[in-house]
Amino acid sequence: VDDAGGRPIADRESAGFWAGLSQHRLALQRCDDCGRHRFPPLPRCPWCGGAAASAVDAAGTGTVYSWVTVHRAFTPGQDEHVPYVVAAVALTEGCRVFGRLDARREDLRVDLPVTAVFADHDDWTELRFAPRTA
Ligand SMILES: [Zn+2]
Repeated sequence: VDDAGGRPIADRESAGFWAGLSQHRLALQRCDDCGRHRFPPLPRCPWCGGAAASAVDAAGTGTVYSWVTVHRAFTPGQDEHVPYVVAAVALTEGCRVFGRLDARREDLRVDLPVTAVFADHDDWTELRFAPRTA
């Protein structure tokens, strides 16, 4: 993340993830050897060590694993957004990702079903989550 408003800086491993978000896709790596999905993007599988991986799109569904409520803005210009919730979401594919969760405080709970939401900013797209109703 840069210091000019929270825009993420993609690196070699994460470029595909950010490009996917800009197209409203949640791109994951799936190990070609053991078949497990992983996040964040890594050059090798953390379970089997395999180097080969395929890019796949997640369904965008999962459940809340944990969360924090941010009360103090980390970057300038974000003061109007606090407090907000950042959740660790266990995706249907089996790995966890992080994103802002737009949910009412009284609805927050572990295992809350959520779905991915793509929030477009000027030159990047943010992964967020919202409670899944169906
Ligand atoms: Zn593997």
